[in-house]
Amino acid sequence: MLVASMNPCPCGFYGSSEKECKCTEKQIKQYKSKISGPILDRIDIQVIVPSVKYDKLAGKRGERSEVIRERVNNARQVQLERYKGLDIYANADLTPKLIETVCKLNEPSKIILKKSFEQMKLSARAYSRILKVARTIADLDGKKDIDSTHIIEAIGYRSLDRK
Ligand SMILES: [Zn+2]
Repeated sequence: MLVASMNPCPCGFYGSSEKECKCTEKQIKQYKSKISGPILDRIDIQVIVPSVKYDKLAGKRGERSEVIRERVNNARQVQLERYKGLDIYANADLTPKLIETVCKLNEPSKIILKKSFEQMKLSARAYSRILKVARTIADLDGKKDIDSTHIIEAIGYRSLDRK
């Protein structure tokens, strides 16, 4: 598993509510272009993470790990059964042919994906990543079929693809 992080701009404060970013648009563009499209394509989930203040870290906790673990284990079980007899361990391993059968979309989801695809100028690789991630979100949600909320969430995880 690959986990990586980068600053939003050379100074690191682009989009921050604490400090003003002093970078020019050109600098930001140049900085972002250091990471190539083909590499970005291969990263399944891209999210923008705001800086966390100490008070927040020390204060209220989110969902408990035990609860999340159970949800993940359930999703793993669903996938193990779905891929029984196939040479596939997880949604990430799906072949283009299997994506067609396992990641079927309803009409509203198809329209949402088509529109985002055109607007964000996504690559074919990013397209299949979105479908696989949407399948995983649906599995975590305990749903047999991918619905539009799953597809919208998966598209939201391509934040660096946005033009
Ligand atoms: Zn900056």
